[in-house]
Amino acid sequence: MDKIEQKIIDLIEKHRDDIIAIGRDIWKEPELGYKEERTAGKFNRYMEKFGIHTESHLAVTGVKGYLKGAGAPGPTVALIGEMDALPMADSPYASAETGAAHCCGHNAQMAGLMGALYALSDAQVQEALDGNVAFMAVPAEEFVEMEFKHGLMEQGAIAFGGGKSELIRVGAFDDIDIAVGHHIAPGIGVALSNHRSNGFMSKIVRFHGIPSHAAEAPWSGVDALSAAALGIQAVNAQREFFRDRDTVRVHGFISKGGEAMNVVADNVTMEYSVRANNIPAILDASRKFDRAMRAGAVATGCGAEIITMPGYLPIVPAGDTRAVEEAIAAAAGDYAVEQHDPGIVMGGSTDFGEVSQILPLLQFNTGGYSHELHNKEMHPTDEYLAYVVTAKVFALTAYHLLKHKGGYAGALMESHEAVLTKEAYIQYMERHNRVETIQMEPIVME
Ligand SMILES: [Zn+2]
Ligand SMILES: [Zn+2]
Repeated sequence: MDKIEQKIIDLIEKHRDDIIAIGRDIWKEPELGYKEERTAGKFNRYMEKFGIHTESHLAVTGVKGYLKGAGAPGPTVALIGEMDALPMADSPYASAETGAAHCCGHNAQMAGLMGALYALSDAQVQEALDGNVAFMAVPAEEFVEMEFKHGLMEQGAIAFGGGKSELIRVGAFDDIDIAVGHHIAPGIGVALSNHRSNGFMSKIVRFHGIPSHAAEAPWSGVDALSAAALGIQAVNAQREFFRDRDTVRVHGFISKGGEAMNVVADNVTMEYSVRANNIPAILDASRKFDRAMRAGAVATGCGAEIITMPGYLPIVPAGDTRAVEEAIAAAAGDYAVEQHDPGIVMGGSTDFGEVSQILPLLQFNTGGYSHELHNKEMHPTDEYLAYVVTAKVFALTAYHLLKHKGGYAGALMESHEAVLTKEAYIQYMERHNRVETIQMEPIVME
């Protein structure tokens, strides 16, 4: 360990109680996506305490501030903390006011991000950095509250649902060369997280039929529930024929199934996600999903709207992970350093995916929480690991990337093959945001 690494660790260790207090404070006041006013305010005031000027209200609630390295000019590394919690009013940890709970552990990201500042703001540490560190508190990672987000879209406040998607759109990533993110992984010690993941398209399908008495005169009706059932069957008939390596997942539910047992259902709505680990496979599965829904409508004579909203994109793994690996080795202490299979594809999705399509992304995990992610009982059990070790890995990763005459930033940037430019990303999002309408065509007896 060199003396700057040691200094980073010592500074964070010295402030461990402050960092734990930050983690607790944010845990106590969970807020939902694009409503993280208090959390953003806390982050803002904290940055100001260190004399860092910030830009606020990026993508509604996002905040960004820079720490300029005092060494040679170099790239800008963004350390990223997500601010949002989950709508989980029945969690014992939910806020009565917002109905939200931090059962995805994003408060630990914020504690780690702010904790890193205790080390990186030190004059001697700054002198060892050839480049800049941007601190980004970002909104709305969880893909929830679609109606609320839709309202923001109609007001023109956002164009895309995901916080990072929106930050890319408004240019907050334009001057960022490398992104660094963290996520809690309950039950582990510390781990590099450089696996692939699925991306997805989200779907709302509305089938329209004609109501009639389901026993007296079913022949006068057109049944939207049968259309939905056939659509689901047609999707199921497709499953065997997706390519294995694309890890396609198509999952959803009927959110509105009709009005009454004795009325032929005239309005049925389904919400689905169509996922795969690369863009061509997402588009392929999305088209097959639409075809299946059309089949349900055509077979029953129902009308339908198939509403497609692009969700998140698959994660592109980083080509050079030495900075975060060395940070983990120095920060882990007695905690187990977990080795994840780099070939693994996570079935879920995150808006870090979009970031990784455009610029290199390094990610790591720490444990320190009970239960699984998104379990309403999930809560911190080892705050030192969840908050303080996270702060160390964030700060040390920035150091290893920008280290004077020997940082890994250059090699990482060279190894990254961008899949999309920002412009191509925005085009993709706009092109696939669409509604297909199928006219009702009941057959009437002559
Ligand atoms: Zn989550
Ligand atoms: Zn999360």
